[in-house]
Amino acid sequence: MPLFDHPEFDHHRQVLFGCDPESGLKAIIAIHDTTLGPALGGLRIYPYASEEEALTDVLRLSRGMSYKSAMANLPLGGGKAVIIADPHTDKTPALLRAMGRLVESLGGRYITAEDSGSSEADMQVIAEETAHVGGLRRADGESGDPSPFTAWGVFCALKSAVRHGLGRDDLEGLRVAIQGVGHVGAHLARHLHAAGAELVLTDVNREALTHLAEELGAEAVAPEAIFDADVDLLAPCAMGAVLNDSTVERLKAKVVCGAANNQLATPAMAERLMARGILYTPDYVANAGGVIEIAWQRREDYDRTAVMAHIEGVGVTLDELFPRAAREGLSPATVADAMARERFGRG
Ligand code: NAD
Repeated sequence: MPLFDHPEFDHHRQVLFGCDPESGLKAIIAIHDTTLGPALGGLRIYPYASEEEALTDVLRLSRGMSYKSAMANLPLGGGKAVIIADPHTDKTPALLRAMGRLVESLGGRYITAEDSGSSEADMQVIAEETAHVGGLRRADGESGDPSPFTAWGVFCALKSAVRHGLGRDDLEGLRVAIQGVGHVGAHLARHLHAAGAELVLTDVNREALTHLAEELGAEAVAPEAIFDADVDLLAPCAMGAVLNDSTVERLKAKVVCGAANNQLATPAMAERLMARGILYTPDYVANAGGVIEIAWQRREDYDRTAVMAHIEGVGVTLDELFPRAAREGLSPATVADAMARERFGRG
């Protein structure tokens, strides 16, 4: 299995393979860049079919965190960790504590947090072995769930995208389709409803969908119909790779802005969207609210108002990014990558 020649390697600074036979831990921690600060990124626990699949995932996700933190003006680099295990059956306290020791061995170069397969409760166990953990319940008892902060960041991003893509400052009567009304999508829907937007919602979870649609007086549609909805803006808040050859051609929306990671099925989709006159908001810029909050939790001067103001900076960043993309005739995704690389010194 190649590492230095791996297609996703991109000059990672460090890759650590950890094994603990007693607990069954098999983990990889990838540190892409630490120019701006320690590498922060979540811990994914997943029953990868092969070690190669796990390595590819951790390298791709770790690199993504360098870009996300740089664009969120955080003093952090990019890293990520994966454990090859089934989170439903293999996640024992011994396994998590072994992971905590592995994180601790890096002396703070890598800070872990929740990701799919790991929860706030898991972070509490990891924290028994290391202080380099984010996403914990705060001293005041408030949940460490980053979703409300992510949703607030997407809302700020969306207002910027609407300004630049539709030339309007208010959201009154704006028609927005939201794919996925889970943790982030539901919060986003409520912000948009409060701002006067008209919502078209979908989710594979019929019960959650019906409930929220009734609460907000929104239209509920079948999952596949969301790409044909007659709306101004599409907010993908379910899963990755939803913007592909077929869905991009169907969109009536003139703006895309949502929380999902890796929305573009291939990098070429950024140009397809541009060719169709659709303004695409780079996902890792829009969805940085959660990581901003996790970074603030680690500060002694944590202050909710300051956190929200920092998250609102997502809109300011996009107010710089969209005009630059227009000036340079490039897609916003390409310009976001370039801006991030300039910021962590690999421009
Ligand atoms: P979630 O699991 O709570 O919500 C996702 C929702 O999408 C669920 O309700 C699910 O039923 C629905 N869904 C799944 N497949 C669907 C489909 N084909 N069509 C319609 N709906 C479908 O997850 P979340 O925490 O709300 O995160 C949403 C997205 O945002 C994910 O891609 C996640 O990686 C990304 N994200 C989340 C955060 C955060 O703070 N939670 C931060 C950054 C990025």
